[in-house]
Amino acid sequence: MDANAARNEFDQVNQVRALDPNEEAVYRYDGSEQQGIRAAKPWKTDPNHFKKVYVSSVALVKMSMHAHSGGDLEVMGLMQGKVEGESLIILDSFALPVEGTETRVNASNEANEYIVSYLEEAKTAGRLENAIGWYHSHPGYGCWLSGIDVSTQMINQQFQEPWVAVVIDPKRTVASGKVDIGAFRTYPKEYKPEHSRESAYQTIPLEKVEDFGVHADAYYSLDVSYFKSSLDTQLLDDLWKRYWVEVLSQSPVTQEQEYMSKQMRDVGGKAERMIRRGKDKGNSSKMAQGKEGNAMEWPFKDASKMSIELSLGLLSQSTRRSLL
Ligand SMILES: [Zn+2]
Repeated sequence: MDANAARNEFDQVNQVRALDPNEEAVYRYDGSEQQGIRAAKPWKTDPNHFKKVYVSSVALVKMSMHAHSGGDLEVMGLMQGKVEGESLIILDSFALPVEGTETRVNASNEANEYIVSYLEEAKTAGRLENAIGWYHSHPGYGCWLSGIDVSTQMINQQFQEPWVAVVIDPKRTVASGKVDIGAFRTYPKEYKPEHSRESAYQTIPLEKVEDFGVHADAYYSLDVSYFKSSLDTQLLDDLWKRYWVEVLSQSPVTQEQEYMSKQMRDVGGKAERMIRRGKDKGNSSKMAQGKEGNAMEWPFKDASKMSIELSLGLLSQSTRRSLL
């Protein structure tokens, strides 16, 4: 009973849309149509061609679970799906057997062999979609592309198109109850985007801020939304039971205290740096300008985000308690 209620809550918080029966054509795979799109390459002429990513609930739960299982280590996997106009539709995903470290994930030759044989096997099992992108986790430091991620994605956009990068933060997911996810496409090297992303603020740990800032204009975010259908029911039932046990039935506030205290230290570090700068530069108004111009606001934005996460965490915890 409680797992079911949690599932309804999950669908609500993440705004998972149930497809109407007449929309279920999205599950049908037309190989020649997809080949036609791959041959026409509409993304070649427009670097902003892809705007949206639709993720099936099956893929969403699988990726969240995998990201969570890595703990403090990054994990990585691939997604299967298809193209529809300016959208990428992710129908399924699978984990890759790669070694993760806290800062980078690299697919090895072993992983490449695994990918080929997995996709072959998936085809014989009726999963006809090609690999259409990769996902990896950023445990506790938000969804964006690092310098290494940008070059990985750029190479894939040269040789694997259509290809999308998805990043999931399992720590923030548990802290807030909402899946923390981002989908990205890189720009060609010579391309200058009209709108700089540097103003698009998000909470990033101090030691990662530079890596974020330097590459922020090399890629853009796509809109991410989720769907499910009655065709998924059996698979989702099974997946959900595992997700409930492995991820959700843990208390976010008590189990994620380490994440929270890391966040606190980070806010403290940013505040300290801000004060130091203020002292160095006296009362000069230039203090708030330059490359890290909005650094002044970081500690405050971070602190308010943290308290929102904390209260969302408490809320979902008390919801669960009342269900037990
Ligand atoms: Zn990364």
